[in-house]
Amino acid sequence: MSGQYGDSTRTVKASASQNVPGQPVTSPPLPASAYHLSEDESRPLDTYGRSSNPTWRQFESALADLEGATSALSFGSGMAAITSVLRVLAKPGTVLVVPADGYYQVRRYAAEYLAPLGVDVREVSAADMCAAAESADVVVAETPVNPTLDVVDLHRLALTCRGRGATLVVDNTTPTPLGQQPLSLGADVVVASATKALSGHSDVIAGYAASCHAELMAAVERERLLGGAILGPFEAWLALRSLGSAGLRFERQCQNALAMAFTLRDHPAVRAVRYPGLPDDPAHDVACAQMKRFGGLVAFELADAAAVHRLVERSDLAVAATSFGGLHTSVDRRARWGDPVPAGFARMSMGIEDTDDLISDVTAALG
Ligand SMILES: *Cc1c(COP(=O)(O)O)cnc(C)c1O
Repeated sequence: MSGQYGDSTRTVKASASQNVPGQPVTSPPLPASAYHLSEDESRPLDTYGRSSNPTWRQFESALADLEGATSALSFGSGMAAITSVLRVLAKPGTVLVVPADGYYQVRRYAAEYLAPLGVDVREVSAADMCAAAESADVVVAETPVNPTLDVVDLHRLALTCRGRGATLVVDNTTPTPLGQQPLSLGADVVVASATKALSGHSDVIAGYAASCHAELMAAVERERLLGGAILGPFEAWLALRSLGSAGLRFERQCQNALAMAFTLRDHPAVRAVRYPGLPDDPAHDVACAQMKRFGGLVAFELADAAAVHRLVERSDLAVAATSFGGLHTSVDRRARWGDPVPAGFARMSMGIEDTDDLISDVTAALG
């Protein structure tokens, strides 16, 4: 529909309300739990707040459009979206591949809740995803991987999954649909946290699933209704309101990330840097083939934990915070959360500050 437009135009249009004279230019929040029913018992579009909400519909059609899906479903968090899809797909006896190096709570959920139900859960790193898919029924891939920013070749993985009849689920949180569209590369369903760069103001938790498989999406919607992991109407409104500036914000974040990656790469205090947009990054060729933009995250390694703490203390612009994708540049030392990374490994989430300011600030803070 809006395929001819660039990302900022699409996100602005997606978040705008319908052009009706006298009505607000943007949609207001609609916090209803119950809607009037008709006495002839025909079903209106909205009946009860756990089934549907007009703000969800607008948010979901925006997400479907951005992901190149026929439909999308919003959830109360990224984890709610991922676990709902997994509850639909991963039945007892299913072989389920989850990222060993990706977002840790996904593999914790699989190990703590799905494995005891008889799902054969296999934790596999980005480099071994394609080989593992050859004996899997459901594959969850994440790329670029949070936090190490390794890249999975989605086209190759999708061909392997298709050859075997396995379902490919891609977590598209780190690149957002403005950076990568997994469905166009052959994925069956996209799951993501909208909490990060898509909402981008560090003030709302939300998630979604998007796909072109109508039957699968109907089952996921049923799961959402019965499981109840819905997005509150105010949060849906906040996420929709934020989506309007996502194109502009993400462009600046990606620009800042590339500049920061070059700066870190050339700094003597930095042991290693990963950013898929760096020409000498091991994943650069695959990233160029499948990504429109390389994202706002940069992974790097300093000597030890103290060096990361010192960087944050000395910096005027980078704050210590987990999560990512917000307006403010932030640094997260991932070993603090138990990620399998060295003590001095940090993930920097680029904000929308001026590039020159960030580069001089971080250069000075590194000493
Ligand atoms: C944050 C994150 C999630 C979970 O999203 P929430 O909105 O916090 O539930 C899932 N996957 C990835 C890659 C993430 O970064």
